[in-house]
Amino acid sequence: MELGHPTQAAIPASVMSNRDSPYAGVTALQVRIIVMSETTALLHALANSQCVDLSQSLEEHMPHYPTHSKFNHTLWNSYWHGDRALTYQLLMNEHSGTHVDAPAHFISDAKPDRHVTIDQVPVRRLIGRGVRLDCRKFQAGDYVPRKTIEDWEASHVSIEPGDIVLFNFGWSERWALRPGHAGYVENWPGVSMEAAEYLFNKPVTAIGVDTLSPDHPVALASHPIHPVALEKQVLLIENLCHLDMLPDVFVFLALPLKIRGGSGSPLRAVALF
Ligand SMILES: [Zn+2]
Repeated sequence: MELGHPTQAAIPASVMSNRDSPYAGVTALQVRIIVMSETTALLHALANSQCVDLSQSLEEHMPHYPTHSKFNHTLWNSYWHGDRALTYQLLMNEHSGTHVDAPAHFISDAKPDRHVTIDQVPVRRLIGRGVRLDCRKFQAGDYVPRKTIEDWEASHVSIEPGDIVLFNFGWSERWALRPGHAGYVENWPGVSMEAAEYLFNKPVTAIGVDTLSPDHPVALASHPIHPVALEKQVLLIENLCHLDMLPDVFVFLALPLKIRGGSGSPLRAVALF
């Protein structure tokens, strides 16, 4: 069981009798009661939480990375044309819209232990504590330095191992369909290598941005953080939105599609708080 406690059936008797186990001396019935009450508490917390959608809408002519394929949404069958039901065919890149990069995006199978494809990324990796950094003062072409993160931690909260750190550049306000997309796809602000390495050393689970990439276009051509992050299994989330609606700390939740051998996946990402 991925979430919460193991079920009664999943706990062998040897675990319940092992003095080091959290279930030591607990009967099967008591485990069932614990699981039920914690599930009820989780459902209650979810029902009373605010939920912010952090994903851009997938639609034709939306901004995309210049070297990536475009998004196509094509009518396949419809009641308007005599079919029983409505369906569309999607033709898109794994990196269309709001998405996550899997390690295999940059790390080849020459490093088999690091070449992790999106279907191999544990589903819990993108469920965890989110931290939102306000980086709206950074302009086109700027890089966020390490000091900005340290200053933020000193006045807010420490970034912990396993956190999912989101940089709010305010760049999603520029998201616009072609031909109005130039302001989004050119010269966005990025995350510096020293700032990224500071986060890798925590280590955080993921870094997210409301731009096309945490790497500025110039950095991508020289010394980008992409291969360094992905080699360390730190996931990269791109094209987020609505980051200005978040508190400093929240629950981040996003589930990648299980694309066998995939280099990444579109995400429906949300924040709960
Ligand atoms: Zn990507």
